[in-house]
Amino acid sequence: MKVMKKVYDVIIVGAGVAGLNAALHLPRDKKILLICKGKPEKSDSYLAQGGICRLQGEEDYVSYYEDTMRAGHSENNPAAVECMIKSSPEVIDGLLKLGVDFARNSDGSLAATREGGHSKNRICFHKDCTGKEITSKLMQNVLKLANVEILPETTMLDLITYNGDCYGIVAMDNASKKVNCILSCYTILACGGIGGIYKHSTNFRLLTGDGVSVALKHGVAVDNINYVQIHPTTLYSEKEGRSFLISESVRGEGAVLLDKNFNRFTDELQPRDIVTSEILKQMEKDGTKHVWLDMRTIERREIEAHFPSIVEHCLSEGYNVFEECVPVVPAQHYFMGGVRSDLNGRTTMNRLYAVGETCCNGVHGANRLASNSLLESLLFAHRAGLDIGKNFKRFERLDAEYALNNVDFNEYSRSDEYLEKLKNNLKNAIREAKNV
Ligand SMILES: Cc1cc2nc3c(=O)[nH]c(=O)nc-3n(C[C@H](O)[C@H](O)[C@H](O)COP(=O)(O)OP(=O)(O)OC[C@H]3O[C@@H](n4cnc5c(N)ncnc54)[C@H](O)[C@@H]3O)c2cc1C
Repeated sequence: MKVMKKVYDVIIVGAGVAGLNAALHLPRDKKILLICKGKPEKSDSYLAQGGICRLQGEEDYVSYYEDTMRAGHSENNPAAVECMIKSSPEVIDGLLKLGVDFARNSDGSLAATREGGHSKNRICFHKDCTGKEITSKLMQNVLKLANVEILPETTMLDLITYNGDCYGIVAMDNASKKVNCILSCYTILACGGIGGIYKHSTNFRLLTGDGVSVALKHGVAVDNINYVQIHPTTLYSEKEGRSFLISESVRGEGAVLLDKNFNRFTDELQPRDIVTSEILKQMEKDGTKHVWLDMRTIERREIEAHFPSIVEHCLSEGYNVFEECVPVVPAQHYFMGGVRSDLNGRTTMNRLYAVGETCCNGVHGANRLASNSLLESLLFAHRAGLDIGKNFKRFERLDAEYALNNVDFNEYSRSDEYLEKLKNNLKNAIREAKNV
């Protein structure tokens, strides 16, 4: 039996920065449903530590562009990079208007820090919890919107499609396991990354690339799915669960990497993929499960002010960063590939958009430059919201009925097995793409 709960103008799947910013930029007269798989705070957007890039004046353009392209091995989409960099001051201004608090210099101007791959300081930050600051402020503003309904603990299982158009989603209430069809004129996939399919990842475990997997299932184009970023420095731990990230800005502020004999072995500020490969080589040479990160090269005052969460977490794992080195190891961190989307978030399926880490508009190329992803997610989600508003066209009721007839509820009767299958299909697709 197909239960058609409600019809919306737009469904947004995901409550990270991408989903929330899309909601904020859709017209107020549109009825919007925003769902997320767990609690709203369980998005990677909340975890972002380092910060968000901002062009530091016109004279910074060439250098920022070159840093992004160098990190991405020049496989980036130049138009997307240009659009992102030129729009970055506007994105930050928009966040300030929403009440986001960034660190300031003594003269009141925005402070800027640096991370690997950047040739100058251009990253706005809020202590070491920039993501939480931005995402919670976006959420506060979305909660004020009367036209947006938020449904947490709800999992999108599938897309409802007919004749090359998307007519909404099949969704499951996590607690009751009840499955429903929810129709919408437009659907935005903002499902974040894929870390949950890896044993060691900095991502929340629930982020299993469902948006990419359902896109693959329906023949929606995906790009670069073999491009998976490994972060060089997560805290080494024997415990199960999400790997704790030690932000690159720690190295940006002067922390150094040491081998088993406490000697430096690489330039810590190279792009992520290079530092990761240097660490893995060193671990193999030394026969160790980790290398060391020494933060004692940074002034105590700076560590206390800039990295309080990292200090606290390391202490909870038994390491006092002011007195000793901490063990670090690379782990899966970010997905540069995803559902192919243009600069307005449009995918190859009509009425289906993809934004944030779920999409691939080519901005990151083969490897993401640090602190470019909050910016990218916010900007292209904003543009998707505007694009839907500008071109809004209600679906034909009859077509939606046909689409509903395509839904086979038997597929979802064992939802755990179904979700496992989505994960495995994505893993296989990534494996195949790597072997090409
Ligand atoms: C530890 C860490 C530190 C980081 N630091 C930085 C940084 O300093 N700067 C930077 O620019 N980037 C950073 N990143 C990357 C950045 O945080 C993410 O790329 C970005 O937040 C992605 O936003 P998003 O909205 O696309 O996805 P997310 O914020 O991950 O949100 C995904 C949403 O989709 C929902 N969802 C997923 N699947 C389903 C489904 N099937 N049904 C319903 N809902 C679903 C989830 O519940 C969640 O609400 C960091 C990432 C991590 C993990």
